[in-house]
This record gives sequence, structure tokens and C-alpha cells, in this order.
Amino acid sequence: MRVAVVGSGFAGSLLARVLAVQGHQVVLLERGTHPRFAIGESSTPLANLALERLARRYGLDDCHDIAAHGRWVARFPELRRGLKRGFTFYRHHAGRPFAIDGSRTERLLVAASPNDHIADNHWLRADVDHHFVRAAAAAGVEYRDRTELTEELLKALRVDFIVDASGPPPGGFMARRLGIPSGLHRTYTNAGLLFSHFDGVRLFPDVVAGLPAGPYPDDWAAVHHIIDEGWMYSLRFDHGVTSAGFVLKRRLSGSPQEQWDQLLRRYPTIGDLFRHAKPLMPLTYRHRIQHRLTRATGDNWALLPHAYAFVDPLFSTGIAWSLRAIERLALCFERGMPTPADLARYDALLAAEADQIDVLVAGAYVAMAHFDVFAAQAMIYFAAVSFAEARQRLAHQSSEAAAWTGFLGVGDPQLGPVSRASFRRLGRMRTREDRRLFVQWVRKAIAPRNVCGFGNPEYQNLYPVDLDELVRRHAVLGMSRETLVSALPALRG
Ligand SMILES: Cc1cc2nc3c(=O)[nH]c(=O)nc-3n(C[C@H](O)[C@H](O)[C@H](O)COP(=O)(O)OP(=O)(O)OC[C@H]3O[C@@H](n4cnc5c(N)ncnc54)[C@H](O)[C@@H]3O)c2cc1C
Repeated sequence: MRVAVVGSGFAGSLLARVLAVQGHQVVLLERGTHPRFAIGESSTPLANLALERLARRYGLDDCHDIAAHGRWVARFPELRRGLKRGFTFYRHHAGRPFAIDGSRTERLLVAASPNDHIADNHWLRADVDHHFVRAAAAAGVEYRDRTELTEELLKALRVDFIVDASGPPPGGFMARRLGIPSGLHRTYTNAGLLFSHFDGVRLFPDVVAGLPAGPYPDDWAAVHHIIDEGWMYSLRFDHGVTSAGFVLKRRLSGSPQEQWDQLLRRYPTIGDLFRHAKPLMPLTYRHRIQHRLTRATGDNWALLPHAYAFVDPLFSTGIAWSLRAIERLALCFERGMPTPADLARYDALLAAEADQIDVLVAGAYVAMAHFDVFAAQAMIYFAAVSFAEARQRLAHQSSEAAAWTGFLGVGDPQLGPVSRASFRRLGRMRTREDRRLFVQWVRKAIAPRNVCGFGNPEYQNLYPVDLDELVRRHAVLGMSRETLVSALPALRG
């Protein structure tokens, strides 16, 4: 088969390479050139599991090494990345420094790995995407950069199938070519983005003294600062640069720099963290970052997730979702060309997953007003991903089953409906009692899939990787205690 992949972000390059390994003739077309700046940097355990499966199935040993911090540093020290031990959240209030207030401290840490060696990474996309495009070319993909794909060129290429990996607008190759209608009206989440990369961002404990020890050092994580206007992400790379951005529910007045200064003045602890930080490129504001199309596949074409829909960086879903979709398409191409039934299945899953990410994130925005409610809402995400991770790692789910299992509980009769039900409840929440009941309700709703004790007040919002708890919950995974214990080394790396 002759396949064109449009767009050489990591997702396009990786899929192109897998297809070449399968024996297809692949042309990878890139409008720009590498290395190039990109955001979308924080990976997760599910992303790493997908990378490891792709590595095993198609012999891509670099993917195996990139899937864990220690292996990455040992094998590819020149590819810049940041250690990510988990997800850190703080709630800030306007005009007040972040306060330590015993068990009411508005701080949530959820460990994603038990040690630095097998931890996740933030990907410095300029380096990582460049690596993947070079690896694709080395595997026999015909790579053409600085190429705008026109109808004439497409005809000349005589391809049997097009994969659109060109990302959201201003990418969106197939959307423009076929006039695929927007489905953005389905998306509740609505936010703009003010961002850059910075040198010299201080560590949280250097600004706020006396924090009780957490399951990992707070800053070696995807750090989320929740504010009245939305939230800020802060991702620290090992070489001292930090990727940071405010994700804002409404546009503030003034230039990007003025908006930035305004927010730093309003939230003194964030102001202290960034007081001496230098942007490495001009601060940029992007109006509504969400996008959504009404179709992900058609006659001999398919979109990768980022070309199809994007919701929000909250919960770092993008990389894992893209890798899951790469696995699915790669499986379809193993048998030659994806069939109409394959494509319909792929399309339906992507649509349900985009909706699921949206209701979960839109609910989280509503919940941000009260940290206890936000922490409960976040538990829906953590329960879904840790259950999926445990099933994939410990219960030895097959590659095919893992790839075609819905992301974030889609298709799971227990967890699937929880995000939407929660979004509805959050919309109705008015009183302190409503909030208390919501927290209780989440704990009950996730219980059938909760392998980590999420929502248990004894953790005081500081969740380690608790293997004893996992063993106690063996039945949730349908495993005996003994089988689970014997599988545990797979979690320690
Ligand atoms: C603000 C923000 C923060 C994010 N944070 C996270 C995060 O922390 N964790 C996470 O997992 N995900 C995150 N994401 C999502 C993540 O960015 C995407 O999942 C990821 O970039 C998808 O990669 P990709 O290769 O599909 O597309 P892209 O990285 O968008 O690459 C598309 C490529 O296509 C090229 N292109 C565009 N148009 C054409 C054309 N017509 N012809 C040829 N080439 C073209 C572009 O030049 C580019 O190289 C974030 C996204 C945003 C917007």
C-alpha cells in the first residue's frame, strides 16, 4: 500500500514509521521543518505503556527507552526532557499567598510512578519530534519537509490512503480539503492560552516554606496552579527550562505581557515563582484552544486525534490518546488496508473519547471553585487511568485489547458514564451540603474501578503509589491476591 501521512509531529512520524516497518510505502509530508517548537509536553503512564507496546510489536527499541525517565537519560541524554513523577495541584486565591493550613491545605499530589527510574517525562517537543522524524526516515519513510500538500501533489503521489496528522488549525489538512464541518458546538470546555518557555522558575518549596513531605518532590511533576480565571500549567525540564502557560476561561485585557503581569500580581505565590523567570520567546496568547470535527475517517483517510479534536491540557490526555490511536490504525494496516468497518470503529471511538475528555475537563473547570470538589472530580480521571494501567501492566491485557479499549473509561459500563453524570451534578451544585454529597458520590461512583484508594481522606490528598492498597484491591482487577503479588515486579520497572 502507498500511504501519505500529513504532518510530522511525533504522532505522524511514529505512525509513518510503523507503517514502513509493516512494509507499506510511506510518504511523510511536513509543511515546516525540524527542529521546531511545539507545546503538548507532559506524558503519562498510559502513554508510556502504548510506547512500550509499539516498541515490542514493531521492533522500535528507542520507543521502549523513551517510555521511562531512567532509560531515556541513559540512552538519549541529548534529547531534552523533564522528570515527571506525578500530578501536582495547588489552589491559589487572589491577593493572598498560598497558605499551609493543616489538612485543609489546598494541595493535591498524585504519584504516577514509584521512583525516578521508571517515571514519566515531559517531552521537549523540539528534540523528541525531531528524533521521531529522523527515525521514520531511517526506517524507509520518504520524508519531505517544507512541503505544502496541494491537490496536484496528492495526485502525483498516487497514494491509497491518507492519514492526517497535521494537528488542529492552522493545520487541519483534511478538514480544509474536504470541508469537514466543525463539531465544536459539542464541546463544553472553552479556554484561551497564554504561554511561553521560561528560564529561572523557582521551586514551590523555595517560595512556600513548611509544606509537609509529599510522595515525590512537588515540582518534578505536571504542576497545576488553579486560579479564579482558570489554571496554569508548569512543566520543568531537566535542563532548567520550564514550559508554562495560563489556560484562561476569559480573555484578559492588554497585551500578552500585560495579561501575564496582571496574573502574577494577582496571585502572589505564582508571582514569586516567576518573579525572575525570563521568557525564552515572546509570550503568546491563543484564543479558544478547543477544536473538534464531526468526522475522523472517510473513504481511505483517517485523522489522528490532534487533527480531529483537542479539549484542554488539563490531565495531560493528548499524547496518550494520540499513541492509542496510532496503535489502532497500525493494527488495521497489519492486514493491508483499513476496512470500512475498521474505520467506522475508529471514528466512533474517537468521537466518544473526545466527548469523554470534554465532560471530564469541563466538569473540572466548574469544580475549580472549591478545591475539595476539584480534588474529587480529579479522582475520576485518576481512577480511570490507574485502572487501565493496572489492567495493561498486571493483568497482561493483549496489545489488541489495550489499543481498542476506550480511553478514560469509554465503553466501561462502570466508569464510562461517571464523567457525564458528574458534569451534570456539578452544574446543579449550590450549597456546602451539595459539595459534601458530591465528594461522597464520586468515591462511590469510582469504587468498582478504584485500585489506588482514590478519595480516601486518610491520604490527605497526598497519594503515593501504594502497592499494599493495590494488593488489597486485587478483586477490582479480577485477580487473586497471589497472582497480583506475583505480577508486581512489572510495576517496579
Ligand atoms: C496548550 C496545550 C498543552 C498541551 N499539553 C499537553 C500535555 O501536557 N500532555 C499531553 O499529552 N498533551 C498535551 N497537549 C496535546 C498535544 O499537544 C497533542 O496531543 C500533540 O501535539 C499531538 O501531536 P501530533 O503529532 O498529532 O500533532 P502536532 O504536534 O500538532 O503536529 C502537527 C504537525 O503537522 C504539521 N502540519 C500542519 N499542517 C500541515 C500541512 N497542511 N501539511 C503538512 N504538514 C502540516 C505541523 O507543522 C506539525 O509539525 C497539549 C496541547 C495544547 C494545545
